[in-house]
Amino acid sequence: MNFYDAHQHFHFAQLTPHRATILRDLQTAGVKGAVVNGTNEEEWPVVAALAKEYPWVVPSFGVHPWDAGSRSPDWLAKLRAALAADPRAGVGEIGLDRWLLELKPDDPRVAGLRVAPLEEQTEVFAAQLALAAELNRAPSIHCVQAWGALHDVLKKAKLPARGFLIHGYAGPAEMIRQFTDLGAYYSFNIQLLEPRHKSRLENFRHIPVKRLLVETDAPTKPPAGELNRFPLPPAADGSVVNNPANLAVTYEQLAKLRHAPLADLAARIEGNFQRLFG
Ligand SMILES: [Zn+2]
Repeated sequence: MNFYDAHQHFHFAQLTPHRATILRDLQTAGVKGAVVNGTNEEEWPVVAALAKEYPWVVPSFGVHPWDAGSRSPDWLAKLRAALAADPRAGVGEIGLDRWLLELKPDDPRVAGLRVAPLEEQTEVFAAQLALAAELNRAPSIHCVQAWGALHDVLKKAKLPARGFLIHGYAGPAEMIRQFTDLGAYYSFNIQLLEPRHKSRLENFRHIPVKRLLVETDAPTKPPAGELNRFPLPPAADGSVVNNPANLAVTYEQLAKLRHAPLADLAARIEGNFQRLFG
């Protein structure tokens, strides 16, 4: 079976010391393609270099809502150039994050960060969507606690003909239809599929199979306990590092939830991945 990871960050520092292991594990696990998302201007050349080195890497370049406040004055021209340099590249990770605005300034997660208010995040997001539409590249969208605002932006925007990805969809069930009508694909990581998210799991059954994708979001969102089939040494702060080779675990979980044979689901997802990112 061939597996495709719709969203991860192979270039992140937590994975760098383990690259040789991960490359071997990806082969063992049958991972044939992965969208690697650069989240700010510094990361784009790193992701571009990985895409040159590894044919399984589908690069994606964007300014993440967490990085929107620290973008450079000519960020959009730089993004256009990065996209022009690789016709396979998508636009991501981009989006809106209201949770970020609730963090206290002394929270280590936002230390030294200039946090962009929602209006500014929206401007940066809309500009990137427009570029994705113009070039017909797949946008990879991050959204946390801003589902209404996201729908407003998408409704007004010109969108790429190929559609767009809402990665790690954790929005309300009743919005799935509206996003789907606008061209949304949805990808899920293993933590979103844990049995404790009962109401959400119900949602996942109703997403049309032609819009389903699977992600690891590695190095974050590791599977719990035994499901962590390809363990890596912990990060410097002791946290568990998710090996992107754990992708198959999420496929298996999704197949169970949807009462679908794994091989059938994998074939459908391969088709979806090629349509959106191919
Ligand atoms: Zn991400």
